[in-house]
Amino acid sequence: MKQQQLSVRLDTLAESQTIGMSKLSRELTAKGFDIINLSLGEPDFVTPEHIRTAAKKAIDDGFTFYPPISGYAELREAISAKFKRENNLDYAPDQIVVSTGAKQSIANVVLSLVNPGDEVIIPLPYWVSYIEIVKLAEGKTVPIQSTIDSDFKISPEQLENAITPKTKLFIFSSPCNPSGSVYTKDELKAFAKVFARHPQVFILSDEIYEHINFLEKHESIAQFEEIKDRVIIVNGVSKGYAMTGWRIGYIGAPKYIAAACDKIQGQFTSAASSISQKAAETALGTYNKPTIEMQQAFLRRRNLVVNMLKQIPGLIINEPKGAFYVFPDVSSYFGKKDGDTPIKDAKDLCMYLLHKAHVSTVTGDAFGAPNYIRLSYAASDEKLTEAMHRIKKALSELS
Ligand code: PMP
Ligand code: GLU
Repeated sequence: MKQQQLSVRLDTLAESQTIGMSKLSRELTAKGFDIINLSLGEPDFVTPEHIRTAAKKAIDDGFTFYPPISGYAELREAISAKFKRENNLDYAPDQIVVSTGAKQSIANVVLSLVNPGDEVIIPLPYWVSYIEIVKLAEGKTVPIQSTIDSDFKISPEQLENAITPKTKLFIFSSPCNPSGSVYTKDELKAFAKVFARHPQVFILSDEIYEHINFLEKHESIAQFEEIKDRVIIVNGVSKGYAMTGWRIGYIGAPKYIAAACDKIQGQFTSAASSISQKAAETALGTYNKPTIEMQQAFLRRRNLVVNMLKQIPGLIINEPKGAFYVFPDVSSYFGKKDGDTPIKDAKDLCMYLLHKAHVSTVTGDAFGAPNYIRLSYAASDEKLTEAMHRIKKALSELS
């Protein structure tokens, strides 16, 4: 097929750079290079055994037919119970839609709410797919800047200033991918106060990293009654239960938004995989020892990586409070040279680190923040230690 025959939609759509960088590092690995992949954000743990067993049982029990579009009733009951138990939030099963990953949940919500020309406010740095999904809905992204100096958090004043009569939706993640920043209850309350003054704005709260949070307790913006009827929580099992490949995400939302997502999903995918849904039902039960153990491992690795990065001259390091990424400011290396080849920006630096140190990372451009790079620390302590040594050495060789 000729390139010109593709739809205009494709002209502006960017490839997911997290996935792109990971693809590149897999290709190099296949060619025999010893690549340490810190580009793709996915837990390196195998899905816990009790969840795998539930999936095998689901196959034998005959869960092989189309499930209901929004998900099996038992799974939506389990999610409803999880919202109550872990977040003290009331979402009835008919306010819950299970999808093929949180990514599809986000797409469903954006397509349900955003009309062409509607403004969607997204704080920087943001997760790669938000703005591309907004583009597909023909919405207009309105970014709010944040830097490492404010721990990559925006203020209520910045939020207030970004809202216009055309604002339809606000999208954010806490814990945040890529910065690892986590908003406190007081900070979320201050946002809720702002939103209370603007009743046309919906809030998509991406809580996929809920279980990888190093502060005391996860806080959801949906807890504030004055705005709860405009909040859509997106969550899933990929990160907290090491289930990226199973592709299960879900929303808790006002009933009419859940119904809209059900309608869209009914035309796009019918429903999420039946076997994965049965596995997710088990994952979201009360047995969460593996999740706690993984969270402890991520905290240990965060400390390891932050401490080692701090030893590298010229990097400015944040201390992530959740998720499994660090997002250092690398701009002091811009303008340096690898032999005759200049390192102009974070993209060049990532490529240099990939080819010289054999460590794959993601340029901050992908997240709207070109002075930074993202490193995922969802890898073993040994690999992380080796990767940090290699990065330090490679950076020291730039002149
Ligand atoms: N939101 C954020 C912030 C993410 O990092 C991811 C991970 N890809 C997702 C949503 C989507 O997760 P999944 O589709 O695997 O459930
Ligand atoms: N959330 C992961 C990341 O940011 C997975 C990749 C993706 O879905 O884009 O790396």
